[in-house]
Amino acid sequence: MSMATASSSGGDDGAPAPPLAVIAPAPSPSSAAHYNRLDESDLVEAKALGLLRNDMPVSTDLSAPEFGIAYEKKGGTKAAGCSADVFASQKSLQERCKHFAMQRGFQLIVAGSSTRANGGGNVKYRCKKLHGQQFFDPNTPASKLQCPFYVNGYGKDQSWKITRACFLHNHYKFIGWRPTPVPSAANAANALMPPATLAAAAVAVSGGMPVANATTDLLVFQQQLSVGPMPTPVNPANAGEAAAATAEATATPPQRLRTQRNTTLSMKVLCRMVTEEVNKYPAPGLVMAKLDGKMIRRILLGQGHTINHMMASRIKRQLQETRIGKVRTSFQKLGGYLKVVADKNPGSLFQVETTEQSGFKRALFISSAALSAVKFCRKIVALDHITASEEAPETPAGKLEDDENDDVICGVYLKATTKDYNDQVLTFALALVAKEDQANWEWFLQALQSTQTANWDEYTVIAGRTRGLQPALRTVWPQASHHFCLRRVVEDELMQAKKIPMTAEKKQRIFDLARSDSETEYNTLRKDLMRTNEAAVAYLDGLNRANWVKYAFLETFRRPTFNELTSDLAMALGSEELFSQHASASHTSWFGEDPVRSSQPLYTFNQYFMKIAENFHQRRQSVKLRPAQELVPMRDAQLQQILQGSQRCESIPCANGLFMVRYLGPTRLQIPDSWRHVNLVDWECTCQDWQDQQFPCLHAIHAAELDQRRMDTLYDVKLNSIENYLACYADGFVPWPMDAASIEPDTSLKSPLDFVFAEDASGRRKPGPKPKNKKSK
Ligand SMILES: [Zn+2]
Ligand SMILES: [Zn+2]
Repeated sequence: MSMATASSSGGDDGAPAPPLAVIAPAPSPSSAAHYNRLDESDLVEAKALGLLRNDMPVSTDLSAPEFGIAYEKKGGTKAAGCSADVFASQKSLQERCKHFAMQRGFQLIVAGSSTRANGGGNVKYRCKKLHGQQFFDPNTPASKLQCPFYVNGYGKDQSWKITRACFLHNHYKFIGWRPTPVPSAANAANALMPPATLAAAAVAVSGGMPVANATTDLLVFQQQLSVGPMPTPVNPANAGEAAAATAEATATPPQRLRTQRNTTLSMKVLCRMVTEEVNKYPAPGLVMAKLDGKMIRRILLGQGHTINHMMASRIKRQLQETRIGKVRTSFQKLGGYLKVVADKNPGSLFQVETTEQSGFKRALFISSAALSAVKFCRKIVALDHITASEEAPETPAGKLEDDENDDVICGVYLKATTKDYNDQVLTFALALVAKEDQANWEWFLQALQSTQTANWDEYTVIAGRTRGLQPALRTVWPQASHHFCLRRVVEDELMQAKKIPMTAEKKQRIFDLARSDSETEYNTLRKDLMRTNEAAVAYLDGLNRANWVKYAFLETFRRPTFNELTSDLAMALGSEELFSQHASASHTSWFGEDPVRSSQPLYTFNQYFMKIAENFHQRRQSVKLRPAQELVPMRDAQLQQILQGSQRCESIPCANGLFMVRYLGPTRLQIPDSWRHVNLVDWECTCQDWQDQQFPCLHAIHAAELDQRRMDTLYDVKLNSIENYLACYADGFVPWPMDAASIEPDTSLKSPLDFVFAEDASGRRKPGPKPKNKKSK
């Protein structure tokens, strides 16, 4: 029972009191709230699981507004809230709540969540409305009812607590569960079934999987499990529930009762159980690909079911077919989907190509909104792939080889990114190609070229050198200045190809080296690095310095790097570039937190489209109250910071706007800051920052103050203005639901997986050609 994660609605960063806490409709006798019930055994279980402090008062007064509710302010503690335990993460709180729900016969969903730095945030769990759920309220249609149950969690600095919880439900719990599983004549007739199994079966399916209708694929299992939730101690509220449940059971026609009591499970149900268990693993997609009979049996054993080899391999085959089918559908719908979105957003560019064998070849989308935004951004473009997954996929069934990994088999995403003057990243082109190579990069670059949005030859291009990227760049954009992506140099070349181990600290030193603003600084830092990482230095010495060291790049190409070193465009102000690609803000703000999977292209493009709409809207909103001529927020903040730093400078005026300036404050790198030459007329400083970032450095600011020049004569006022920023994000974008009826699937199209797996459903791999061994890094 995977927890459906709703979009993060209602979350609000930063507020100390979770804003999610304002719900709980005040019960009025006439409303549906009248039917809310508090089950004492729910409270007992919550206490047993540490979710509720032992002495926590929970009102049993039906007419009180706080009926069934526990809240921190009333009897809780600041550290642990209503709960007895403090949880290390949202996930561990969630696991505990989920366990509670399972024990108490209902399911949870995440109704809203927001995250903050340091693993904090807010979350709200609610009771999931299950198909066929029976509500106490006989009059209101089920569609209009919502269960009042909720748990509000709040986390800060890796301590999560429950701030408020409502333990009421307005429906019967334990679907498929009967309070007294006495073996009836009907069951006794089924000689294969030990009576005790009945309870186990009921427990196992209490998560909402009906035991009924197990007509085909009958399977017998032996009792393995001691019963979890026993019939609850009677309290007034519960007595009603139990009585009602019994009444309902009695009212059921005998025929139905028999199937309900049937202790055999269909293969479909077993497959679902396995799937739901697998979904609890960190990378379910990978685990699913590796799933073998042994693991299937182990999973089901954990649920109290013993199955034989034959059934295990049938389940395995079934799950594999489902998996491959899902991938196929995603590919077959992709073309139609991209077309619909392009139609809804005129001016957008999309391409989908297939091979002669009706296989998927490549697809690309560039939205009209993003294209027009590029014109208002900096002249920098970053090209990169999106790695399939960062960690070597180690699953409980063993390590997943590349040729077993659906996301390696299905191809790789390519993206193009730029940055606005407010330091925000704009991912403006996304493609999925079967393989990252020169031909596909050339195709991608030519698509960008065909938009005629910008003269890319004038751009600073941050991109890797490997996998065809460098030769493709030389072919399509011969004049562009290529700055190597240092992430790819370090991760792909040094670590992966050269097998040089690298710590975050060592990476940082290489990045520092790459930011050298003079040959002197470069030599000092290089000598330093030599002592700890000779192999890396030897390798880096082989690269053309103009393509990766700031001062040499500026000298050679006379174009800014905007202090960027990696195609994340994450800039060095934080230490983002030390994180994995997936953890960088430039990735998550355009693709979300979910892994970007090439085996699910429809979903990935859909997520990306949603992010375009979201980011454009949010960026417009963020500055709407600022005057049009003002600096964009990030530049404004930077200017304030530089102004402060410049207080620690001393300057000597030379002539005609020329100054010698030196900074006397502390610096991170132990390089004595010598005199710099500032040219206020040409907007240059020998520290290179002014030229490189197209914004004055602190030397320049200090000199300008002395020279009584206005700050706003030191940078391009228009490009850095709110007005330009608003123009950048002026265009709207209409994302389209991926399950819209108007999307025509291309049923003849084969996914890359179809070529790897035999289509005869034997479940075995064809001995035929395997995909090229592409590393996921
Ligand atoms: Zn409920
Ligand atoms: Zn300077």
